[in-house]
Amino acid sequence: MNNLAQLDHKFVWHPFTQMRDWLRREPIVITSGRGAVLRDVRGKEYLDANSSIWTNLHGHNHPKINGSIQRQLKKISHSSALGFANEPASLLAEKLIQVANPKPQASNPKLAKVFFSDDGSTALEVALKLAYEFTRRTRGAESKPRFLSLNGAYHGDTIGAVSLGHIDVFHKAYGGILFKTDKVMSPYCYRCPFNKAKPERADARDYRKCNWECVGKVEEKFSQQKKRGNPYAAFVFEPLMQGAAGMIPQPEGWLRRVAELARANGTLLIADEVMTGFGRTGKTLFASHREGVQLDFLCVAKGLTGGYMPMAATLTTQNVFDAFLGEYEEFKTFFHGHSFTGNQLGASAALASLEILQSEQSIDARQKLEQTLRTELKSLWSLPNVGDVRQVGLVAGIDLVKDWRTREPFALRERAGIRVCEAMARRGVLTRPVGNVIVLMPPYCTTVQQMRRIASALKESINEVF
Ligand code: PMP
Repeated sequence: MNNLAQLDHKFVWHPFTQMRDWLRREPIVITSGRGAVLRDVRGKEYLDANSSIWTNLHGHNHPKINGSIQRQLKKISHSSALGFANEPASLLAEKLIQVANPKPQASNPKLAKVFFSDDGSTALEVALKLAYEFTRRTRGAESKPRFLSLNGAYHGDTIGAVSLGHIDVFHKAYGGILFKTDKVMSPYCYRCPFNKAKPERADARDYRKCNWECVGKVEEKFSQQKKRGNPYAAFVFEPLMQGAAGMIPQPEGWLRRVAELARANGTLLIADEVMTGFGRTGKTLFASHREGVQLDFLCVAKGLTGGYMPMAATLTTQNVFDAFLGEYEEFKTFFHGHSFTGNQLGASAALASLEILQSEQSIDARQKLEQTLRTELKSLWSLPNVGDVRQVGLVAGIDLVKDWRTREPFALRERAGIRVCEAMARRGVLTRPVGNVIVLMPPYCTTVQQMRRIASALKESINEVF
């Protein structure tokens, strides 16, 4: 085992990893990357098929992002946002507000202010705390703001974000230190308890019998809570596709309908676009724009810096901002902040990334990649252990099952997803499953040939493992 792998085994504790399994085999030690390709310490190359856990947008070592960071590096790497403004953070905040509101403008309040933090979890914590305090200030200090989120929700690993989460294997153990939130059915058409359409071997399932029962469930939840005299303070959701829940897409129209329900109940809308933001879901820069939803909070991270730096932002409205204004001694201040809030290197990477994202060339490349992904995924339907193939824009989830006819899932202990990803790694393609779902989310620079290699590695691996 090489020296770096030995050091890792000796000292590093990896996230979301059973370290007993980890210590059984030599880890892949990444030393460099270019475009969609990662290279390890032995010189072996891999395709980065999940954009380094959904972060990277334009590929590694992009000259424009590198250049922007390097120019900033010559000036200053970091000064505090507690007490001082800085150049790239101010420019980035302006830019984010320009791109964050859907067009045409709805009459609802627009996103107008940016609160920077470090990662997806903190972006959600900020939205949670702001929504909580805003609700108390508008409904009365005695009110008890309550949050609603979706079945299978994952919004990060800090305690507030975990409280919003509903994935038992991750969250249950911490029940004793979490605050109570409510969950509601999210659409999961493949396993819909209402629509019993028979499995088909086609890339379009028969969802025609849908009567929007899942929206009915959301409606029910809102009206129950209203009857208790305490309408939900905020509804938290990932728009268009739930990521860690298993890459579960929402049927067209779901988002608009539930957003209208929330509005009608005086409930704030918090969109977690940590995964879906910055073009990942195709067509629009943000997933919530696809259905014209005007948000009260937009949380972004991962792709904000093109996946180069840990940086996040929570965007909110002038209304929310104004509720925290007052004389110093009224202590209406938002008492929250992190040491690296508004970091200059992160902000300069983000500025370059947004510029690339808005270029004709990138828009074109994303459209082509979305199409290539669609074409390549078609061949997976013929495999008996592929139950469902789901794609929203440039994100795909391949749901592995024991038998496509029965849709019987593999037990988690069978490690079906992990085994397939290990087989893919041997073929030079890196990704990570969510349970039994294989995630494909390549960087936007991935070529047609590279996409073909990813799809054929996946196919061969599924055949090998089962
Ligand atoms: N929200 C969503 C939708 C996510 O996918 C993630 C991370 N996978 C997070 C929040 C948390 O982000 P981070 O890991 O940067 O804290």
